[in-house]
Amino acid sequence: MFSDTHLAPYAAQSATSRGRSHAEPASSSRSEYQRDRDRIIHCTAFRRLEYKTQVFVNHEGDLFRTRLTHSLEVAQIARSIARNLRLNEDLVEAISLAHDLGHTPFGHAGQDALNVCMKAFGGFEHNLQSLRVVDTLEERYGAFDGLNLCFETREGILKHCSLTNAHKLGDVGQRFIQKNQASLEAQLTNLADEIAYNNHDIDDGLRSGLLTEAQLNELDFYAKFRAEVATTYPGISGRRAISETIRRMINALIVDLIATSEQRIKDCAPQSLDDVRNRSPMIAFSDAMQKEATLLKQFLHANLYRHYMVNRMSSKARRVVTDLFNVMMDEPILLPDDYQIKKTVTDQATHGTQQARKIADYIAGMTDRYAMLEHRRLFSVDEV
Ligand code: MG
Repeated sequence: MFSDTHLAPYAAQSATSRGRSHAEPASSSRSEYQRDRDRIIHCTAFRRLEYKTQVFVNHEGDLFRTRLTHSLEVAQIARSIARNLRLNEDLVEAISLAHDLGHTPFGHAGQDALNVCMKAFGGFEHNLQSLRVVDTLEERYGAFDGLNLCFETREGILKHCSLTNAHKLGDVGQRFIQKNQASLEAQLTNLADEIAYNNHDIDDGLRSGLLTEAQLNELDFYAKFRAEVATTYPGISGRRAISETIRRMINALIVDLIATSEQRIKDCAPQSLDDVRNRSPMIAFSDAMQKEATLLKQFLHANLYRHYMVNRMSSKARRVVTDLFNVMMDEPILLPDDYQIKKTVTDQATHGTQQARKIADYIAGMTDRYAMLEHRRLFSVDEV
């Protein structure tokens, strides 16, 4: 059995994992969480992340973040924090790489549109969809559907969910009902996600020209590090200055998160993962840094995510997703055979709900460009 002896007693350990839904023999060369990470990297949904929008639609430029590079950045930040806190790096890497697998094409605009379409059929939420991908949708193994990941990886993927959904989810839903915490690894991956997107969205925003440095200098957190960069490297400008500033911001957030969490862990003195589950969250920024992080997020909402150019793309994205869903619901015979629910169920309502979920799975799995192609195929008479 692979050993994680260098880890803190409150870290998630392969040897004491709650295990997989389908029992499998242990590997002689890899920990259970390494295996999970490897399964995620080899799955189809992971490769699709390359062509899915983070903020900028894939064809808008080659240098913007995609869901794939975003997930890699989250994994880098999460591993860095985990190593410092003697938490399980393999587990945070697995959670990071899987956390966005359920995202629709076109980012949040796509998810919001699909959620509206699915309102009468239980809704759509990317977080739940990520779990659905690893639990049932991937078809890679002879013995089971999905990737048969460990409980701790699945729990980390399910960052949040409604009480109604929690009741339907079995073991991973329990903590939302009992109001317990997830592992420290799950808690920190959540915050690594935030550190990654807040910073890379500023970088991409500047690169696209939708944000200007003048705007960013009104944000104290950016201005402070930009001034430091100017003092260290007089005359520095352009991309190099932006990169030097953003790396300082990322570092400040990570250093603060490690120090604050270390102190909290010390104060709570958890002896095991079970202790972690029964206490309040221990992975956190200091109050001062939390304020900076919130301001950063608010800045991005006001200036980038609601920029009229982003709104235009979001509006088109909503139309594409909504059109696809509606035409497929109206005429399921247009769907590839695998996605048509045969009318073996007598109950019309059940049949409708099953068909809707199947269509949601189909649309959520699409990359940006596949969704656009499918839209042309279904709505343009010139396209075959
Ligand atoms: Mg993310």
